[in-house]
Amino acid sequence: MADPEVQQEANMEEEEAETFAFQAEIAQLMSLIINTFYSNKEIFLRELISNCSDALDKIRYQSLTDPTVLEAEKEMKITIIPNKDDNTLTICDTGIGMTKADLVNNLGTIAKSGTRQFMEALQAGADISMIGQFGVGFYSCYLVSDRVQVITKHNDDEQYTWESSAGGSFTVKRDETEGLGRGTRIILYMKEDQMEYLEERRVKEVVKKHSQFIGYPIQLQVTKEREKEISDDEAEDEEKEEKKDQDAEDKEDEAKLEDVSDDEEKDDKETDKKKKKKIKEKYNELEELNKMKPIWTRNPDDITQEEYGEFYKSLTNDWEDHLAVKHFSVEGQLEFRALLFVPKRAPFDLFENRKVKNNIKLYVRRVFIMENCEDLIPEYLNFVKGVVDSEDLPLNISREVLQQSKILKVIRKNIVKKCLELFNGIAEDAEDYKKFYEQFSKNLKLGIHEDSQHRKKLADLLRYHTSASGDERVSLKDYVGRMKENQKCIYYITGENRDQVSNSAFVERLRKRGYEVIYMVEPIDEYGVQQLKEYDGKTLTSVTKEGLELPEEEEEKKKFEELKAKFEPLCKVTKDILDKKVEKVVVTQRLVSSPCCIVTSQYGWTANMERIMKAQALRDTSTMGYMAAKKHFELNPEHPIVETLRQKVENDKNDKSVKDLVMLLFETSLMASGFSLDEPQTHANRIHRMIKLGLGIDIDAADTEAEETTAQEEMPPLEGEGEGEDDDVRMEEVD
Ligand code: ADP
Ligand code: MG
Repeated sequence: MADPEVQQEANMEEEEAETFAFQAEIAQLMSLIINTFYSNKEIFLRELISNCSDALDKIRYQSLTDPTVLEAEKEMKITIIPNKDDNTLTICDTGIGMTKADLVNNLGTIAKSGTRQFMEALQAGADISMIGQFGVGFYSCYLVSDRVQVITKHNDDEQYTWESSAGGSFTVKRDETEGLGRGTRIILYMKEDQMEYLEERRVKEVVKKHSQFIGYPIQLQVTKEREKEISDDEAEDEEKEEKKDQDAEDKEDEAKLEDVSDDEEKDDKETDKKKKKKIKEKYNELEELNKMKPIWTRNPDDITQEEYGEFYKSLTNDWEDHLAVKHFSVEGQLEFRALLFVPKRAPFDLFENRKVKNNIKLYVRRVFIMENCEDLIPEYLNFVKGVVDSEDLPLNISREVLQQSKILKVIRKNIVKKCLELFNGIAEDAEDYKKFYEQFSKNLKLGIHEDSQHRKKLADLLRYHTSASGDERVSLKDYVGRMKENQKCIYYITGENRDQVSNSAFVERLRKRGYEVIYMVEPIDEYGVQQLKEYDGKTLTSVTKEGLELPEEEEEKKKFEELKAKFEPLCKVTKDILDKKVEKVVVTQRLVSSPCCIVTSQYGWTANMERIMKAQALRDTSTMGYMAAKKHFELNPEHPIVETLRQKVENDKNDKSVKDLVMLLFETSLMASGFSLDEPQTHANRIHRMIKLGLGIDIDAADTEAEETTAQEEMPPLEGEGEGEDDDVRMEEVD
């Protein structure tokens, strides 16, 4: 029996195990994984191997600047060990390992945004195999096992074991058993009906299917048999154990051997046979499963689309094939090879946070250097995935040195060029391009804004709905191709959505005269178009900004000059009424059925931009003032309302109703042009009074009644209907 003291020590060790509760969503996810009926369970191995590969990438990257991190374990590899006696499958890596804190945080207590999103996706019919994209791939091990141990050793900490049989909690404790050196060993206790994953053939099949392009050796421990010669006395011992089942087999084998052996061997045997005996012995051997050359080093002509697809999936954790691929090499002064992919979809968190995972992996002469090398590709192309393998960079390069590297700058330039070629390739197929554009148009527009060097090429890739395009989107090239003969500019309007802009008063006149107007309805368009300015020598002209001049006939011009003069007094009165609310009041030709509109000056914001800026919480409030103020009120001289107003002013310069009517027209135009009202209630009050007028309700009587019931709801009377000075003052106060 054990010595009481030893017993106590053992107990103390037991006590060291700490129990942690899984974060609620993770617990929920685990029970979902365990209980969901799902047949494609094999993907668990892909996820675990992908984590091994990530961990190896991390230590590899650290070692570039500090080779001593590899001291505890020099080899970098992944090992898979099936054990049919224990019904376990063990997956080991010599990667970075996890500290105790890493274990607790990464495997259970810190929720990732992907946890909930993955569960929602599952509910919406997504497939479990998508798990990797949501950053919770580890938990897929519960598809095949009901108990999991993670033994891990990080350079900065002791060795620890994490263990959980799901059910809401896990334990972590110090691990005293044989040292790992560095890395992680995951032991899966397989569910009864999942023993197939202990079969050599099955493991090989799954690794080949999902993980053949992993950049570190994946070794499978296989059991083999060999013959061993032993001396008679040794044989006696061994035979006692093995005789029963081996005897028959042995004889058979020996017989076979004799058949094939030549005479010489026969002679040897006969002399040996007296002293030695042959027995069969089982032994383990590691077999490498992914011996292929890295795919990007191969000749593109020899690579099938399926192989590209498999490589893409193992690179990105995507469950679907890529949309397009470009495989190229650059030679000459600088040499590198690259493989670039465009995914079918934007990841669920493309613009959610700054951390972009697995975009471009950098290799130097086939050795992995780092993932997410942001200096290799501009931010707006962060959806492009792939690898770059340079012949020229030094192996021990750090991120800091990389940033300065001229070589990297040249590579980057080439990559952007190739990406644009790749997108143009996609554009040759309308269906594919539609998919691409729906997912990544924001990125292209961001590129227009940021990348002056490639702006022109990016502009070719833009597609917009227009006043003449129906449900299809058209390119700027198409637009220019069908411009009217006398048309010099490309007309566009920005706004919140297609419905709003297509019904806008600004668009109506242009449309009526046969000009096409481009609809830009994404916030980012507003920024992009500021940079783009022109396309193919044609200025991009906002139909909502001042100075919109349509190509005119001489006669029309003359007529307009006359109108301008005729409406001069009305414009002046209107400007006096609106005062600082607008910069100027003019007559316009851009309207057909609307009486007036508000445009913004060339350099001020559009209504849409003002909306976007108001919505941005952290904007600089000082710009708001001078950018937002530059509104022009334009009157349509051909509209009966405007003409009647003009007559009113002509008859009596001080007609009191004019002021109220002008205010109403102005506020209504503000709203119609997409601005928000500073005092919507005042506007509402004016409208109510108009309605009362329309319904023939006695305004004075109604007002007294209202005052009696709700004293707060004060309504300014219509100018001219009230009596004298008093009302004027009240009106001013409300405005
Ligand atoms: P992801 O790989 O997308 O981060 P996972 O659920 O697959 O999500 O893994 C969660 C985290 O657990 C990893 O980010 C990593 O920090 C840690 N981890 C998992 N497996 C290993 C491993 N073999 N070695 C080191 N860390 C690991
Ligand atoms: Mg993972």
